Amino acid sequence: MGDDDIRHYLSRQSSRQKPELRPKMVVRRPATQPQKAAFEDFSATHLLCPKCRTARPVRERLLLILPDGELYDYICTACGTSAGTRKAGR
Ligand SMILES: [Zn+2]
Repeated sequence: MGDDDIRHYLSRQSSRQKPELRPKMVVRRPATQPQKAAFEDFSATHLLCPKCRTARPVRERLLLILPDGELYDYICTACGTSAGTRKAGR
């Protein structure tokens, strides 16, 4: 038995005692925003356009800010005509 045996034993031992380098990564995803999703759903509304004479996807545009709410204008995405307004109360 020589030093080689001991060295071999030690190297084996040290490799076995390798510290676990596995940090637990906690990825915090931002919570889904139901409000935004609802808004996107709403903004995809189709309205009857008076010019196209058919239901068109409309774009919501803030028209006026009233003391008791906001007035939104719905613009036809095809021709740009106002297809209606909506008043959002507070
Ligand atoms: Zn239109």
